[in-house]
Order: sequence, then structure tokens, then C-alpha cells
Amino acid sequence: MNKIQMVDLKGQFDKIKDEVNASIQEVLETTAFINGPKVHQFQKNLEDYLGVKHVIPCANGTDALQIAMMGLGLKAGDEVITADFTFAATVEVIALLHLTPVLVDVNPDDFNISIEAIKKAITPKTKAIVPVHLFGKCADMEAIMDIAKEHNLYVIEDNAQAIGANYTFKNGKKAKAGTIGHVASTSFFPSKNLGCYGDGGAIFTNDDALAHTIRGIVNHGMYIRYHHDVVGVNSRLDSMQAAVLDAKLPNLDTYNKARQLAAKKYNNAFKNEKNIITPIGNSSCNGICDTCDCHVFHQYTLRVKGVDRDALASYLNDNGIPCGVYYPIPLHKQKAYLDSRYNEEDFVVTNQLVKDVISLPMHTELDDEQIEFITSKVKKFING
Ligand SMILES: *Cc1c(COP(=O)(O)O)cnc(C)c1O
Repeated sequence: MNKIQMVDLKGQFDKIKDEVNASIQEVLETTAFINGPKVHQFQKNLEDYLGVKHVIPCANGTDALQIAMMGLGLKAGDEVITADFTFAATVEVIALLHLTPVLVDVNPDDFNISIEAIKKAITPKTKAIVPVHLFGKCADMEAIMDIAKEHNLYVIEDNAQAIGANYTFKNGKKAKAGTIGHVASTSFFPSKNLGCYGDGGAIFTNDDALAHTIRGIVNHGMYIRYHHDVVGVNSRLDSMQAAVLDAKLPNLDTYNKARQLAAKKYNNAFKNEKNIITPIGNSSCNGICDTCDCHVFHQYTLRVKGVDRDALASYLNDNGIPCGVYYPIPLHKQKAYLDSRYNEEDFVVTNQLVKDVISLPMHTELDDEQIEFITSKVKKFING
């Protein structure tokens, strides 16, 4: 059996070496390292893939979030609602811009921001909601857009983990995650579903005026060279990374399918385990996404009940199975983001999830033998 890895970038690279090398070689030959034709080519191809009017590439997913918020003109003191159970980047940029983060609880079943909790958190100062499509599953965007409309709020989708996922509206219409809100951010960190070989990110929007504003912000606030109309930043996707991404983009659907297939095999192996709760998709796909692509399994995350999760993690590690705990501490309990306005009763789900969750290896190269080994070890630990 091949050594099990949390993410197998080498195995994936070996299969696309020729395309990636050729694409990088083009950049080297043209020496157009910054904002070269590769960046524009990738931007165009990603716009077509997503069905979104504007993709604005930038340096990483954290910058993408910050720039999206700057582009919307959010002001110091504006309240921004986001999920308590996510990676810190989301709340970090809110705080950096002197906006007020308002963390709210999530759903126990799909780990995404709770609609009820959003409603409860809205005040006259609320200006935006940032749903994070956690672990590859799109948050309930239809409900979120309804709330936003009612209260005149912006919606910024943090799509770092769900690129390629579909969201299905009640009327059957589908849209790609990251194309539904006013603006979205994504990350091309190597381990993301569409990862480059360094740092990278992008902002998506269907709003022409906002896209124009953002294109200036990523480039020092310049719309005309050496004319600085707004305060900007320097945040670019470099051409080498664009070359990698443009070579990988045609494989994104295949990669997401491979993740879904691995998730389906995991789900099947655990279906009779009373102490394991497997991740879910939509009711229509039963969490296996054969039909709807609602979940692209950036992570495959279990909840374990009546089991010492940390002991399970050590046992798996001892057996050569890497695993992860995303995330071990709710954001509202992180020192940097403590706020006396929070009540523990408002974070019942997150406070429980941080104790129960464990993410198993998930990537495009997992084989049956590895999945069988991983699931048998998990079951052996749980059932003694
Ligand atoms: C990875 C990630 C980010 C940050 O992306 P970087 O490219 O590492 O800056 C932001 N939000 C979420 C949910 C992420 O998973």
C-alpha cells in the first residue's frame, strides 16, 4: 500500500507534469512574471468555468477577503456577521479593517453558518454577512440572500474550500459556489481543491462597478498609472502560479469527482456505525453527490460520539494514518477575538463540534486499499 497522506500533491503532480511544466515554461520564455498573459488567460478560463462575470486574481485567499471588504466600502465600526467555526482568516480581515466581527453559531449537520443565528445577530450596525462554505459544502445561500435583501446587507462568500461546488435553489436553478453573493473570495493554497504551487487567491463578482473598484485596489489603488484614487494594496497572483492553475483548471471537475467518490466510500464503510456521524450533502444526493455536486469535500470530516477523539487521532497517527482536527478552538474563544458581548449559550453547536470533529485523509489520489485500511482502523478503535 502506498503511504497514506492527508493531501497527496506529489501523486497528483506526477499525472499532470507535462501540462504544468509546459505552462510554466511559457512564462519563463516570455519572462512576463507579473500580470503576464498567463494571468489573464487563467482569469478568463476561470470566469467561463464558474459562469461569473469577473474574476480578479490576487495574492492569496486572505487578501481576497480583505480586498472584497475594502471594495464594498465597509467602514470602521460596521458589524460583519460570520461563522464561529472556521479558519481564522475570515475574522482576521474583519478585525484588521476595524470592522466589528460578530461570530455566530453553525449547523450541527453541515457545519455551515446557522440561518437562525444570523437572524438573531442582526443589529442596525450590521452591514455584511460572510458565509464560509466549509469543508466544500455551500452554505444555505438562498436563505442568506433573502435575509441580506430584507436588511440591505452585503454577502461576501468565503469560497476558499468549495470551488466547483454547485448550489441548487428551490426552483431547481443551479449556480456555482462563489457566484451567488455580491462578491466572493477564494484561495489557491496548494491543498485547496484548486491549488497552485505557492500562494494564490481570487475575488469573484458579477457587479461591473465593484469589479472595477477591486481591480484598482489590488494594484495600489491605481486606475490610471501613478494616479492613486483609493487606498489600495499590492496583491497579485504571479504568472508562475497562474500557469500552474491554468494547467490544473481543466481537471477541477475530475478532481472534485474523485473526492466525492472517496467520500462515498468512507460514508459506506461507516454507515452502520452508531458512534460516527458522516458528513452530509443535500437531501437529494444523500451526501454522496452523484447527482448534484453540492459538496466537493475539501475535507472529509466525521463527528465521533462517546469516543475520545484525541485518542482516536493519536491511534490513527500511530498506524500511519494522518488526520486533522479542523478546528480545535471556536473563534469566539481565541484570545485575539474575545468579546465580552458573546454568551456561551449562543455557541452550543461550535462548542460541541470542536470536541467531536476529526478529518480523515482526503485528496484526489486516495485508492481503495488506503480507504479500506483507514476505515478499518477507525472502526477498530471505536468498537474496541
Ligand atoms: C484557506 C482559507 C483561507 C485563506 O486562504 P489563504 O490563501 O491561505 O490566505 C480563508 N478562508 C478559508 C475558509 C480557508 O480555508
